Amino acid sequence: MYDVVIIGCGVIGASAAYELSKYKLSIAVLEKENDVACGATRANSAIIHAGFDPKPGTKMARLNVLGSRMMGELCEKLSVEYSQIGSLVLAFTEKEMECVRELYERGGKNQVPGLRILTRDEVLQIEPNVNVEVIGALHAPTAAIINPWGLCLALAQNAKINGVDIHLNSEVVRISNKGGHYHVETTSGAYDTRYIVNAAGVYSDKVSDMVAEPFFRITAVKGEYYILDKSQGDIVNYVLFQTPSSVGKGVLIAPTVHGNLIVGPTSEPTADPEDTSVSYRGLEEVVKKSMRLCARISFKESIRNFAGVRAMGGDDFILEASAPNFINAAAIKSPGLSSAPAIALEICDLLKENGLDLIEKDSHTLYKKKPLFKNMRPDEQKKVLELDRRYGRVICRCETITEGDIIEAIKAPVPPVSIDGVKRRCEAGSGRCQGGFCAPRVHEILSREMGRAMESICQGKAGSYILTGKTKTPGGGAV
Ligand SMILES: Cc1cc2nc3c(=O)[nH]c(=O)nc-3n(C[C@H](O)[C@H](O)[C@H](O)COP(=O)(O)OP(=O)(O)OC[C@H]3O[C@@H](n4cnc5c(N)ncnc54)[C@H](O)[C@@H]3O)c2cc1C
Repeated sequence: MYDVVIIGCGVIGASAAYELSKYKLSIAVLEKENDVACGATRANSAIIHAGFDPKPGTKMARLNVLGSRMMGELCEKLSVEYSQIGSLVLAFTEKEMECVRELYERGGKNQVPGLRILTRDEVLQIEPNVNVEVIGALHAPTAAIINPWGLCLALAQNAKINGVDIHLNSEVVRISNKGGHYHVETTSGAYDTRYIVNAAGVYSDKVSDMVAEPFFRITAVKGEYYILDKSQGDIVNYVLFQTPSSVGKGVLIAPTVHGNLIVGPTSEPTADPEDTSVSYRGLEEVVKKSMRLCARISFKESIRNFAGVRAMGGDDFILEASAPNFINAAAIKSPGLSSAPAIALEICDLLKENGLDLIEKDSHTLYKKKPLFKNMRPDEQKKVLELDRRYGRVICRCETITEGDIIEAIKAPVPPVSIDGVKRRCEAGSGRCQGGFCAPRVHEILSREMGRAMESICQGKAGSYILTGKTKTPGGGAV
């Protein structure tokens, strides 16, 4: 019997698991995919919003500002890539300038530190590549960029080494209230638990419906993006936003923590929450809208397009119990990533209010991933090379990722099982050629280190096989 079962291992489930792992509790995380961070947490804008956008008085406003304040220290502690570069909401018309003033007022009410309205000249001085027709902007110095899946992974790795069981490939299909505890059935086995945290993203309404009367619905809303080569990474210095509209914050332009440029997203409801395809129409919209902010971007330098799916549920996050000892962390749309550490604290409070004893453990172990070989100092590189020659064999030539880096990722507490899983952990395949050269090598290393046949290894999600079987026998004949 577990004390707490968390359903879903995106950044919200992983943050809750990390926070709860500090207490004397038995905890399990149930995740339907073959890895953590496979939902919205994998595919988003990767911005830590300052918190001027949410309506004052909402949970979203309070948790965004608190989460943004906590994030820098958390990323430092867990070795997650994060950079507080600040953001600008650009105005090109008097109407947009009015909106900038409204956001400034709202930000003041939400207690966002350091907000300032800049004149045209001030904007052009700090961001020389923006459209010269800009007339002013809202500057938020606390906005930041982050590695979102890196944060989720670090939280999950830390939860795991502090005793949390993470069951992957475990989709929750039924929950029965046994009067005093819950019986949770998954595609890989069943678990009993006293408390449940529902952090199932776009499926959180379906999971809540398993135990309670339906009281909220999630709409899946897709956002499409461009990732541009590092040649475009320093075209802008800040996160550049348009003024927001009824469909959200609009298309943004931002450097990424890995040195690329991200441009997007669109906002399009989709009937299928798993639909992460991109479209000509969507990408054309991204180009058109971003050009209004900055026309200097060369979209010929695109190295990848992707789409993420938002879990839209209403005007605010749903953080409340819908049945005894059943806590929802649902409708966590943007700024959910920014709010994640604060949402985790809120989940702990809700569990406590529902009668769970939170008694701190005497000690909590910190897991920090080893720096990549390319980021080590020369003396450190020399030392690791002496101990392990595999750090001298470069596998991903675009990003200079060595065999040693890949093996280190495979040995982590929550190891990758797919080629994309390796990429999320150590950047192999994330460069200009997008794995065109290194994917077969990564495939071989995964197969060898995991002791699994190459045919059984997937590109990403379960079922995305790459090889179907051998064409030749070891003796040379065809099969
Ligand atoms: C296009 C886009 C842009 C965004 N940009 C930003 C941004 O810049 N800044 C920001 O702060 N926020 C942003 N967000 C929001 C942010 O990404 C989300 O708020 C956050 O990732 C939500 O995390 P989550 O854990 O709730 O959901 P998810 O990451 O979707 O995780 C839910 C998990 O539950 C699992 N699951 C679902 N059903 C079941 C089941 N039955 N059994 C077991 N497991 C299940 C899923 O597989 C998934 O792994 C953006 C979102 C999108 C889509």
